[in-house]
Amino acid sequence: MPFISGGAKVLGVFGWPVEHSLSPAMHNAAISALNLPYLYVPFAVPPSELKGAVEGLKSLGIVGVNLTIPHKEAVIPLCDEISDNAREVGAVNTLHLVDGRVLGDNTDGRGFYEPLRAIGYELKGKQAFVFGAGGAARSVVFQLLREGAKAAICNRSPERAERLAKAAVDAGYDSDRISVVPMEASALRECIAESSLFVQTAKIGMHPNIDEMPQIPLDALHADLLVYDLVYNPLETSLLAEAKLRGCRTLDGLKMLVYQGAVAFHKWTGVFPPTDVMEQAALDGLKSR
Ligand code: NAP
Repeated sequence: MPFISGGAKVLGVFGWPVEHSLSPAMHNAAISALNLPYLYVPFAVPPSELKGAVEGLKSLGIVGVNLTIPHKEAVIPLCDEISDNAREVGAVNTLHLVDGRVLGDNTDGRGFYEPLRAIGYELKGKQAFVFGAGGAARSVVFQLLREGAKAAICNRSPERAERLAKAAVDAGYDSDRISVVPMEASALRECIAESSLFVQTAKIGMHPNIDEMPQIPLDALHADLLVYDLVYNPLETSLLAEAKLRGCRTLDGLKMLVYQGAVAFHKWTGVFPPTDVMEQAALDGLKSR
């Protein structure tokens, strides 16, 4: 247990449940590495208590919190202000108390983008094939569009992909850069052949269902494709293993988890944390599950 001085500042995460969260391990590892006067605490907040918990940030002077399931949408009306980014995505994953006001933001899009930037991958002008159209896909699609890429979305329930595409057009992005791909072999083959990035955002292949794969023709995976799977347990999903066999570059979802946390940490403390330290803490946390 670290020494907690009277001047310690509090950060944390609101979730229900929250026990599974890797954020306390990641953030406290970064705080220790930087020797900063902060402490990151998991708060188990039931939905009925979310309003009181957000008001409690002001009463207690808590500097900032992350939000995880099921609070990311319900917290929006409880914020004093939300960022344009969070408004576009329709979800808030980070609260920051500034001058007594609760500001809501969403760092998932940056969390998705930063690992690509770190490997020198340029999104501008490229086409990304996005499998899935849930909450994670929303952050990914809006970030792709912000960075000048095209997004081709395919989802098991096509109407959800259509809704996401419409939300992006309604937000002012050029409809030429957003398309919906039917879940049908020839359309998928053609779209993946034209794409240089494949982002797997669906709830597929997660522990314990590690043999699950997205419903795409695997022979469409080509050597010029970067395959980015947002799932991080396991780190190497069946999709990533198959993609490697077919000569694709790959990225795992742990990097996104680490960077969405790092961007929030920077916002709260003014210091960009060591992402290698956070990644190792998250890995250790996964191993001990
Ligand atoms: P969500 O909002 O519940 O959306 C789930 C998505 O998965 C939907 O598109 C759903 O399709 C699709 N899906 C579920 N089961 C499927 C199946 N058997 N076949 C085809 N599609 C299926 O969930 P989410 O919040 O977007 O999370 C999605 C995944 O991303 C999770 O594995 C989560 O752990 C991961 N994630 C990772 C990070 C990170 O930092 N690395 C961040 C956020 C999320 P339908 O619409 O047809 O139901």
